[in-house]
Amino acid sequence: MNKAIFLDRDGTLNPDPGYISDPKDYELFEGVTEALLKLQNAGFLLILITNQSGISRGLFSEEQLEAVHDKMKKLLKKGGVTLDAIYYCPHHPEHPYKGVAECNCRKPKPGLILQAIKDFDVDIKNSFMIGDRVSDIKIGIASNVSPVCIAKSSFDGYENVPTFPNLLEAAEWILTQ
Ligand SMILES: [Mg+2]
Ligand SMILES: [Zn+2]
Repeated sequence: MNKAIFLDRDGTLNPDPGYISDPKDYELFEGVTEALLKLQNAGFLLILITNQSGISRGLFSEEQLEAVHDKMKKLLKKGGVTLDAIYYCPHHPEHPYKGVAECNCRKPKPGLILQAIKDFDVDIKNSFMIGDRVSDIKIGIASNVSPVCIAKSSFDGYENVPTFPNLLEAAEWILTQ
């Protein structure tokens, strides 16, 4: 079995101006490649779990999302980091996409992580979900992986979730577990 770090994208790996549609607008936070390299070197799979309702809202296409992800992969690769997989939800309840409105893959629903657990034979006991929103905490709990939060302070009702100001500090904490 494999241990994994499930990663939110916007607000966790990169600044989140909302609905990034152009690779030019995609930049990583400082320290992100360093953090991911430490986790990768410790034997964790790195799996992106991201809601991208900009697709169902008609703000960008799946091809444009792929171009943004190519930029992200290029930036990560400069730091020696390779993501093992990217799972995204294109849906939104108010914007049916390819006939689907209510899906099972939009965070906080656990669909994306459950699929990844199956695809990569993930050992949930030794795996973590890192994100910057309550929906990221909820998907971690719903899929039985430990949630870790990137935020200035913990969210109401989730004070027990380990919370760090940036990904590097979160990664360093995970490596002590
Ligand atoms: Mg986020
Ligand atoms: Zn979905």
